[in-house]
Amino acid sequence: MFFMGVDIGSTSSKCVIVNEVSEIVSQAQISAGTGTSGPRRAVESALNIGGLGQQQISYTIATGYGRNTHEAASERISELSCHAVGAAWILPKVRTVIDIGGQDVKALSISDNGTLANFVMNDKCAAGTGRFLDVMARILEMDVSELAEQDEKADEILSVSSTCVVFAESEVISQLSRNAPIPNLVAGIHQSAALRAASLMKRIGIATPILMTGGVAHNLGVVRALERALNLQIETSAYSQIAGALGAALIAKDKMIHR
Ligand code: ADP
Repeated sequence: MFFMGVDIGSTSSKCVIVNEVSEIVSQAQISAGTGTSGPRRAVESALNIGGLGQQQISYTIATGYGRNTHEAASERISELSCHAVGAAWILPKVRTVIDIGGQDVKALSISDNGTLANFVMNDKCAAGTGRFLDVMARILEMDVSELAEQDEKADEILSVSSTCVVFAESEVISQLSRNAPIPNLVAGIHQSAALRAASLMKRIGIATPILMTGGVAHNLGVVRALERALNLQIETSAYSQIAGALGAALIAKDKMIHR
């Protein structure tokens, strides 16, 4: 039997298929989120990679910001519960999850049995989100995937004092016009995102181990900046961006196996 989780985010769509012993059979991630062809392509791609047909999927759970748009889902569940379950699969003893996605930042505390105990979320502002980093990368004429490499070359952190994306954008442009070294600017941008995440985590109360999920976990510059801000180790995983879809697939499996 196979079970599918589809996480439809603001920025990307993820699909994970697991089997009845909770192993990942296939996964796909498409950089196009809700309201686009992303969800359909992520599902098709995961089915193709797994060599499976839709009829072989026993149960599908959709999650994420755009979960209500996925008509093929058997059920829809909040991304908070799905991220908690996915994170506990990735790092079994996880106690705190910091999820930085395209549009929001969430800090989750996880109970001993791997379920969600509590959470806090950023307000509607894009400060410290993937969107903030995407905008900054565009001004610096690079892809977000190049930011971490630049950060490593920094010999100083040029603080970005505005958390608002619009004001931070002007601040970075003004620094660029003064020929500020790009790596130092990138380090400042990462620090700004990390400080937002750290303050959310402090509000919820931090217990270790800590896992970062969401697409921004790919950016080791932000991960290291958060470690510095908290003076604690942050774990990441190759599965960090698919944590929500993975959790959805695992919840789908539990519904069918334990019913
Ligand atoms: P959502 O679920 O809200 O759509 P994701 O969790 O998929 O968002 O995260 C999307 C964000 O992750 C992007 O805005 C981008 O900043 C970041 N991101 C995605 N891939 C990478 C990468 N390879 N390197 C650095 N950052 C990345």
